[in-house]
Amino acid sequence: MCGIMGYNGKQNAIPIVIKGLKSLEYRGYDSAGIAYLKDENVKIIKEKGRITELEKLLDDDSSNTAIGHTRWATHGSPNRINAHPHNVGDVIIVHNGIIENYSELKEKLISNGYTFKSETDTEVACAVIDSIYKETNDKIKTIEKLKDVLKGSYAFLILFKNDNKIYTTRCGSPLILASNIDGNYIASDIPAILPYTKEYYLLDEGEIGIVDFEKIEFIKNGNIIKKEKLTFNFSVSEAELVGYKHFMLKEINEQPHIIKEFLDYYFENFDLIKDISKYKKIHIVACGSAYHAGLIGKYLIEKYGHIETNVYIASEYRYSDNFITKDTLVILVSQSGETADTIASLRLAKECKAGTLGIVNVVGSTIARESDEVIYINAGCEIAVATTKAYTNQVLTFSLLAYKLGIKNGLISNEDALEIKKEYYNLPNEINKILKLDYKSLASKIYKQNDIFFIGRLIDYYLCLEGSLKLKEISYIHSETYAAGELKHGTISLIDEGTPVVSIVTDTSICEKTVSNINETKARGANVILVKRKSLVIDETCYDELIEITDMSDLVIPMLSIVPLQLLAYHVADLKGLDIDKPKNLAKSVTVE
Ligand code: GLU
Repeated sequence: MCGIMGYNGKQNAIPIVIKGLKSLEYRGYDSAGIAYLKDENVKIIKEKGRITELEKLLDDDSSNTAIGHTRWATHGSPNRINAHPHNVGDVIIVHNGIIENYSELKEKLISNGYTFKSETDTEVACAVIDSIYKETNDKIKTIEKLKDVLKGSYAFLILFKNDNKIYTTRCGSPLILASNIDGNYIASDIPAILPYTKEYYLLDEGEIGIVDFEKIEFIKNGNIIKKEKLTFNFSVSEAELVGYKHFMLKEINEQPHIIKEFLDYYFENFDLIKDISKYKKIHIVACGSAYHAGLIGKYLIEKYGHIETNVYIASEYRYSDNFITKDTLVILVSQSGETADTIASLRLAKECKAGTLGIVNVVGSTIARESDEVIYINAGCEIAVATTKAYTNQVLTFSLLAYKLGIKNGLISNEDALEIKKEYYNLPNEINKILKLDYKSLASKIYKQNDIFFIGRLIDYYLCLEGSLKLKEISYIHSETYAAGELKHGTISLIDEGTPVVSIVTDTSICEKTVSNINETKARGANVILVKRKSLVIDETCYDELIEITDMSDLVIPMLSIVPLQLLAYHVADLKGLDIDKPKNLAKSVTVE
């Protein structure tokens, strides 16, 4: 989490860093700060709250060298003192990550005479750097030593007093560096660099980047190294609202186009959808929405591939006995490719000699680089914290994996394969129809509620989990999802007159059962919003509101059924007047445990 941005060059660094931080605000937004060089001194300005609060404190100073931070607090509350940059002795840093052994280090530093102003692990890291620097009097040696002293994850931008270079290193948390004729840039993610250049370098673990006024240099094991330049395939407009009220709404509306591009690309390069038929079992490991996408993956892979598949929450998987063997394929799903728990699970799978496949959005991210194989979901730049288009393309990726397995083992005939391919290509059209429906009036009926329930079975249950998460994330309404058959084992006691119950019924194999469960809630006064497959005949007395979805194969329909739930969540949050793209306490790209 957290966004960091640095600039060293001919232009005024302060507005460049502020602009970069604003485009990284989705990563953290509880406090912000900047440090810049001014007449041989370093000036630090920080504030609680959004970057706009920080801006109010800036005068019209200018500087050629600055580093900045937008925070997602892990250690110490979000206040001005805990905000970054931190300064100890000769060292000023911004930090993304968690220093796990900070209390042990802090004790040692205190006994050596250091004092601390903040509650953060970052200030401890800053003191560690200062103390090593005092011993070595060598900046590179100091930074190289950090990997032996600090436990946890970090991306640092470091300034030393009386030096106009920015030093940077990382372990776990991501960093990119880029240059143009105006200067040199360092950031946590692409949107911050996009206005200046499309070419960039990825800093690898164990490397040090030195960014001075004119150039960037990379050092590894004490030697200068050459690094390969990469190119973003994003356009600037992807990181802008272009007329939409929120990025989330923009990204929901981008889905037809993104799906079309995904299908064109992968049907032309069908080999890139890996053949996973040789594995005896599959573990899908992910967090949040990616975990929900994985559940749909399980359903489809088991149905069409006949391979036993289980889905795990990454933060649990990494600490469990998972019986991973070399016949296991571990599929890691992460939009950013930098999710800390998912990376740890990947490394665990590799230690156990399992096959690994990353399903990620960000090209060149850690999961993409460290997995044996990777499938990029090509969802473009996703800015809203609550994922929509990336989730949909994750599901689509699983769908194509299952489709390929089904064709290979004969469960999908050649004829059916052609039909299903047509349905895939019809998805954008169908989503466009769903996008045009009126969700505002639907949302107006539930936005004042405190509790909402989602019910479904099998694939519909997994979609409900995602719909409910969307609603929770951005509207702060408590909502829970139940496998419809579970309801009467406890939760139905919470259904009262007017309680909203959202249900998805698209799975033809089980629909009568779900309808009975919906009726059970209706009989207790629930206000039912039903999303159903068009051809299913369901008595009108079962629901209060209805959204119908065109009939499609279960390989294709999930990408359609989720869209009304995304829009419902969006409009509920909008009616409540909430900050939809940056929900409270959340941040995108969870690079800490
Ligand atoms: N652990 C640091 C803090 O709480 C950095 C958190 C972040 O990555 O924003 O200040």
